[in-house]
Amino acid sequence: MDNLKNTPEEKKVPINFIHQIIEAYIDNKKNNRAVHTRFPPEPNGYLHIGHAKSICLNFGTAQKYNGLCNLRFDDTNPAKEDVEYVDSIREDVKWLGFDWGNREYYASDYFEQIYEYAIKLINKGKAYVCDLTAEEISENRGTPTKAGIESPYRDRSVDDNLSLFQRMRTGEFKDGEKVLRAKIDMASPNMHMRDPVLYRIIHTDHHRTGNKWCIYPMYDFAHGQSDSIEKITHSICTLEFEVHRPLYDWFIKELEIFAPQQIEFARLNLTYTVMSKRKLLQMVQEKQVNGWDDPRMPTICGLRRRGYTPESIRNFAEIIGVAKRDNMIDVALLEHCIREDLNKKAQRVMAVLNPLKVIIDNFPDNLIEETDAINNPEDEKMGKRKVLFSKELFIEREDFMEDPPKNYYRLSPGKEVRLRYAFYIKCVNVVKNLLGEIIEVHCTYDPETKGGSSPDKRKVQGTIHWVSAKHAIETEIRLYDRLFTKENPDDVEEGKDFKSYLNTDSLKIIKGKIEPFIKTAKVGEKFQFERIGYFCADKDTTENNLIFNRTLTLKDSWTKEEKKNK
Ligand code: ATP
Ligand code: MG
Repeated sequence: MDNLKNTPEEKKVPINFIHQIIEAYIDNKKNNRAVHTRFPPEPNGYLHIGHAKSICLNFGTAQKYNGLCNLRFDDTNPAKEDVEYVDSIREDVKWLGFDWGNREYYASDYFEQIYEYAIKLINKGKAYVCDLTAEEISENRGTPTKAGIESPYRDRSVDDNLSLFQRMRTGEFKDGEKVLRAKIDMASPNMHMRDPVLYRIIHTDHHRTGNKWCIYPMYDFAHGQSDSIEKITHSICTLEFEVHRPLYDWFIKELEIFAPQQIEFARLNLTYTVMSKRKLLQMVQEKQVNGWDDPRMPTICGLRRRGYTPESIRNFAEIIGVAKRDNMIDVALLEHCIREDLNKKAQRVMAVLNPLKVIIDNFPDNLIEETDAINNPEDEKMGKRKVLFSKELFIEREDFMEDPPKNYYRLSPGKEVRLRYAFYIKCVNVVKNLLGEIIEVHCTYDPETKGGSSPDKRKVQGTIHWVSAKHAIETEIRLYDRLFTKENPDDVEEGKDFKSYLNTDSLKIIKGKIEPFIKTAKVGEKFQFERIGYFCADKDTTENNLIFNRTLTLKDSWTKEEKKNK
């Protein structure tokens, strides 16, 4: 019941399996019914839409059960982490609409405590310092069907281990020279239980602890303990940690500390994109995209710049729900969510992206007519605006055909169409250049049809948008397409890598003509260009150079698919 609710129509999602577990926990009065979750990113990259799912789940669960949700940075690897990432993560979680109050924590704040935990394991004879190299440790690990080989250092005395571990801390050894390992079972069918490494030596400054430490706990030795220290009741994480759970439970048991309940769910995979931070970082570094916030990226900052709203992403997370098995979500569903939201909110304007000049022969040369246009038919409160009409206009090239097929309802010789909010016009003539291309369309207008209807109830079949040539503002428009040509770019054929599937045509920059109202656009503001799509003012916008990102077109392939399936 927790999967298969990907229909956008279905607003009321049945309670998911994680919430079922939490409700049973509340019924059993465990921990005084407290519900405490956390979102635990590693600050080694920007957050993406998959993280958004985890954020919505962790913060949303806490909200639903009157609990709390912490923001905790799992910053155990100084070599890959940076404050730039910390700052971006804080910004993105906030933007999504969640608040962690004063509960912003860092695994690095617990380094001393985690060190004490390691000492405790050593004292119990459950951890030892090992001199094998990383390669030797990996070779000796065995395979799932073949037991590993015990380290020759496994039986060092507690005192030796305490002293060596202390010397590791004080910086006597070089990177990789020694590690601290748990002493569990080299024959365990679970590879994670085969004496995993707990601490390694890294002589690198940490973005928070500076040069205080040169030994750092492994993620597996920090994550569960950090949850425990924060008294997290439900450690919600993705499926790949299911096999780590016995190890986390072992640590909790041996250390005799508070035991969070770990619950795994399937990570979000989206079609036509990649979601691994490593791969996203690679695309940024190799400049296949223009930074982490490139509007083609699946990052939260990329989606924001593209014109996505927090509401649309939260709604998406709710609709996809949580599943116990890996699945792939059609990106068209995410697009459906933003269309639905922008349809309700976006200011309408008329914009012409592929202009063709129209001259109204019977319109007085210097006359300017003003007509009323509706700002958003979905929201009366957004009111109306004036649009200016003059003798020379632009329409879309696609809205005129000299020799149209039968069911073409737009402008063609002898045909009359309605100009949105303005007048009926009829094409009387076309002017071509030497190449035979149409450069001007001459029309007449009917002054009686101001506002878009005729007193004699004469019908026209088409309505097209337009802008007044002398009033229109020329702007830069960035048209985005999918970043990858393959539905699952992670599924690579031999001899290729995920970048082989990059869409080389994913960004087109054009010029557009937009009605003067657009001058008021502020960075981040969203518009529906009538009949074309949703657009958002880019951060590179200046007063004299307006730049718009196409969020997406109006066509909704998700609902079309849905209809087809019915
Ligand atoms: P990488 O992409 O390198 O595998 P990561 O995405 O796991 O790293 P973290 O910073 O550890 O990066 O993720 C923070 C939290 O977000 C974790 O709890 C993780 O399980 C969750 N998360 C990450 N990716 C997804 C995803 N695609 N869907 C749902 N949750 C995710
Ligand atoms: Mg991770």
